[in-house]
Amino acid sequence: MGNQNIFCSISSCHYWAQGNVCKATEILVTSDTMSKNLPDMVDAPYAVQITETPVSKCHESCCKTFVPKGSFSQNTDGVTKQ
Ligand code: SF4
Repeated sequence: MGNQNIFCSISSCHYWAQGNVCKATEILVTSDTMSKNLPDMVDAPYAVQITETPVSKCHESCCKTFVPKGSFSQNTDGVTKQ
């Protein structure tokens, strides 16, 4: 079982598992704008160091921890898979 409190339908993600569960040990949800502007290596381990990014619609937020399955960048953010 993955992180039992996080369900996700992004099945192309390295951390995704059957049943739409996220198996990342931690994730960072941030604004779309912040996600575009930060390098891949900045993720959940850096959460306390980044600025707050309020949004007003759910579609303005995203999972910064997403990484495509098989991507070479899956180990650059310090997040591991359960
Ligand atoms: S890391 Fe983000 S995109 Fe990937 S499965 Fe978890 S919640 Fe979904």
